[in-house]
Amino acid sequence: MFQTEYVKRVYEDLQRKNANEKEFLQAALEILVSLEPYVLKHPELEQNKILERFVEPERFVQFRVAWVDDHGEIQVNRGYRVQYNSSIGPYKGGLRFHPSVNASIIKFLGLEQVLKNSLTSLPIGGGKGGSDFDPKGKSDHEIMSFCQAFMTELYRHIGEDTDVPAGDIGVGGREIGYLYGQYKRIQNKTVGVLTGKGIPFGGSLARTEATGYGLCYFTEEALKVMKKDSFKGKTVIISGSGNVAIYACKKATELGAKVVAMSDSNGYVYDKDGIKLEVIQDIKEVRRGRIKEYIEKVPTATYHDNSKGIWKIPCDIALPCATQNELDLEDAKVLVQNGVIAVCEGANMPSTLDAAKYFIEHKVVYGPAKAANAGGVATSGLEMCQNSARLSWSFEEVDVKLKDIMINIFHNTYNTAVGLGNPYDTLTGANIAGFEKVSKAMLALGVY
Ligand code: NDP
Repeated sequence: MFQTEYVKRVYEDLQRKNANEKEFLQAALEILVSLEPYVLKHPELEQNKILERFVEPERFVQFRVAWVDDHGEIQVNRGYRVQYNSSIGPYKGGLRFHPSVNASIIKFLGLEQVLKNSLTSLPIGGGKGGSDFDPKGKSDHEIMSFCQAFMTELYRHIGEDTDVPAGDIGVGGREIGYLYGQYKRIQNKTVGVLTGKGIPFGGSLARTEATGYGLCYFTEEALKVMKKDSFKGKTVIISGSGNVAIYACKKATELGAKVVAMSDSNGYVYDKDGIKLEVIQDIKEVRRGRIKEYIEKVPTATYHDNSKGIWKIPCDIALPCATQNELDLEDAKVLVQNGVIAVCEGANMPSTLDAAKYFIEHKVVYGPAKAANAGGVATSGLEMCQNSARLSWSFEEVDVKLKDIMINIFHNTYNTAVGLGNPYDTLTGANIAGFEKVSKAMLALGVY
């Protein structure tokens, strides 16, 4: 699998030290293998132990989060923050609240985030955090109690010039509001220490839409350049029905596509006439319900248990926007057999490595997560700019900047892939394009 002794040694060492961290090793392997062509041309990386330092987080914090539920019972969860790499700017990356969260998930997300943030061309380093807290079924009061307890520990590790968290799975506008409220209460400061804030207290217009919209801007540009095509008239399936999926659906529809299916962790809905997004938004954003309620409002649609069945629906474009490893090799084969022309990732690492390789081999326009979903963090970067300057840009101003950034990320990724001899290998393209800047900064900063 490895072409170089150096990269092999780095990976084997990582395996030894992180033996039980499946997702982290999966992400590290994908990245390290794809960096080999670059490493071969740059002996200074080995001389300066850049890869060894790149895969090792600068700091990893784990902490207890004790809080009281509505029945007066004390609950105990585990909180995490990984501050992965600050060579190009303050650590930046979301917080995930989900029962599956553990050290492996947080480290895989943090490592990916380092390269993603570099690709945005903004001066932001990589971090990630979260908790195994399950927000499902919790009252609003319980969510607030948990967020306050979480921030009571996290506040000492973050800061507007040090580490700026945002949302991720299970952490939306409501949670960011409670987290920021607690930070302000403890620190007595109004600063851009979190992004994804509400508009009345320093949030950026278009941040809510940014990851989904950005995914579609990236996909549209990729279709134009690689297939002389566009979203217009295409059939699209989108997994998930959270923040990323909803705004991907909105923008894909605006660009002329028909989205026929969306999912949640229980199952998926298929609507041959095109998903009515207002129904999904009412279920998911307003009532926090289950996607199967869609068929009560749209009886011509169908609901199917088992979310993975969504990949069997014939489509031109697939946008996985739910979670890691939701699309495996078998799913990839079915998609290709059904004539998919583009698979661009809204979620982080939704395709397994062999699924991603299958898309590349079959000349599918493949948008790897760290490039295709970077619109969220890019707009968070724009929120930081607005907070520092104490001003607010209009929706249109932010949206134009977001689109420019996504088009730029596509070209950077694609040109790197072309330079390596395979224009479809955007996986390698994105990893090398992101790594180049980080490694140059690390070399220039000396040993740390
Ligand atoms: P949300 O919590 O808003 O939504 C997640 C959605 O995915 C929910 O609909 C959830 O369903 C669904 N889901 C979870 N697991 C599965 C599964 N196994 N099969 C099908 N659906 C599933 O999260 P986001 O939309 O914010 O995040 C989604 C992905 O995008 C994550 O990988 C995240 O890391 C990534 N991302 C998010 C960014 C952002 O700005 N928010 C930025 C960049 C990446 P249910 O309601 O049943 O849990």
